[in-house]
Amino acid sequence: MSEKTILVWFRKDLRIHDNEILLEAVRKSKYVVPVYCFDPRQFDTTIYQTKKTGEIRAKFLIDSIKDLQLSLQKLGGDLIVKLGKPEDVLPELVKKYQVSEVYHHREVASEETRVSADVETVLWRLKINLKHFIGHTLYHKEDLPFPIKDIPDVFTSFRKKIERDSNVRPCFETPSQIQIPPGMEPGTIPELKDLGYDFIPQSDKRGAMQFAGGETEGLKRMYYYFWDSDGIKNYKHTRNGMIGADYSSKFSPWLSLGCLSSREVYWEIKKYEKERVSNDSTYWLSFELLWRDYFRFMFKKHGNKFFQKAGFKGVAPEEAENQQELFEHWKNAKTGIPFIDANMRELNNTGFMSNRGRQNVASFLVKDLKVNWLWGAALFEEKLIDYCPASDWGNWAYVAGVGNDPKEYRHFNVLKQAHEYDPQGEYVRLWLPELNALADNQVHQPWKLSSSELKALNIELGNTYPKPIIELAK
Ligand SMILES: Cc1cc2nc3c(=O)[nH]c(=O)nc-3n(C[C@H](O)[C@H](O)[C@H](O)COP(=O)(O)OP(=O)(O)OC[C@H]3O[C@@H](n4cnc5c(N)ncnc54)[C@H](O)[C@@H]3O)c2cc1C
Repeated sequence: MSEKTILVWFRKDLRIHDNEILLEAVRKSKYVVPVYCFDPRQFDTTIYQTKKTGEIRAKFLIDSIKDLQLSLQKLGGDLIVKLGKPEDVLPELVKKYQVSEVYHHREVASEETRVSADVETVLWRLKINLKHFIGHTLYHKEDLPFPIKDIPDVFTSFRKKIERDSNVRPCFETPSQIQIPPGMEPGTIPELKDLGYDFIPQSDKRGAMQFAGGETEGLKRMYYYFWDSDGIKNYKHTRNGMIGADYSSKFSPWLSLGCLSSREVYWEIKKYEKERVSNDSTYWLSFELLWRDYFRFMFKKHGNKFFQKAGFKGVAPEEAENQQELFEHWKNAKTGIPFIDANMRELNNTGFMSNRGRQNVASFLVKDLKVNWLWGAALFEEKLIDYCPASDWGNWAYVAGVGNDPKEYRHFNVLKQAHEYDPQGEYVRLWLPELNALADNQVHQPWKLSSSELKALNIELGNTYPKPIIELAK
């Protein structure tokens, strides 16, 4: 057996299933040193004055680390947890445990790749190699039918070619045992207060789901959605829902931190198709997973353009003079447009919002309010429990018309969408109980009622609920 010690640097791959770096380290070494760093930069304030990580996602992350540590312990291993920058922490551990190589999964967004580059530099000084693996996407970069620079900027062209010419690789097996150096000191998992948070987020029972971090919970959700509830069987027809756990998979928070591998999900879909049913819905879930891949590959292709106002189209959308004031209304769920406010309240209270909701609030901010879309994306970065750079900034750029949307001027009619996707106003009433008394056909446009009609229902626009900040008909 090799005498090597390999350090496995966990980042957004917080799992033991389908994890190539872990399996490879176990196979190639005598000892494995699994490490996770809570990087203080992840808890900073951004240039947009938003937090890089809000409380809800921070808690989800802490729980995911606890679960990973437990899983490694069950295999005879453990997880070293440190609060510090990886480029400071890793060289210390390399020296302490006489590590001969460090493994990690490659990221795509610039902040993450810069950290990898810095780690590579400091390790290089110690004559230690940082080995890069690819492990976040469904399709392996090397199996794509085109080099990254030639990936089409239109999703449909990408999808058709991928589906015809590429295959998803099988998953890596889970190691049966992990050997760590004798006396390895795991360190302590920080609490929220150690990361600078002064309150613990409370769960809101109206939330789509009570998300709990970690691979165990992620896998449990996957088995439930496929095998217990058969939710996947109707996914294509329910995915535009807005209330409850099962209108969509809700895999995103676990996929974002790598608690669930998208490849594992893909092969479970294939198994379900073989054993239960194969239909347009089972296909559609892998179709959506392909969107996730697509934005990651787009990030590799266009890089930091996704963080710029003009995106990769080169022309920034128009901005209103009072955009700062409009943005404050939007982010605080006080636009006076119930469908928008209900969605923003769900986001603020739970860290989650449906895909339908995300498309509407984003389009409303950019196309109706004419606010800088980067502010919206940064707020989502803070609030979303499933935030991931490529999916967030990629989708925002798409909605803002500076990314991958081939249509020149797509504009959601927010009222039409509200009536279509919340016809009885159930969703709006769930999140805006102050509008409970309104009838189904009034709840999306309270301003259409006279002040005496509203008074009879104990509603006063501008007092119990805001007046609309813009006239939508315009
Ligand atoms: C403005 C905006 C911002 C978004 N920001 C994020 C984000 O930060 N993180 C994130 O994971 N998703 C983001 N999405 C995509 C999508 O809304 C969520 O992935 C989805 O709502 C999560 O719920 P689900 O897991 O039940 O999805 P399902 O409908 O069950 O889909 C299954 C999986 O497919 C992937 N997926 C689905 N739709 C998309 C999409 N449009 N783009 C990329 N991947 C997709 C996700 O991994 C998702 O978990 C954003 C969409 C918009 C419009």
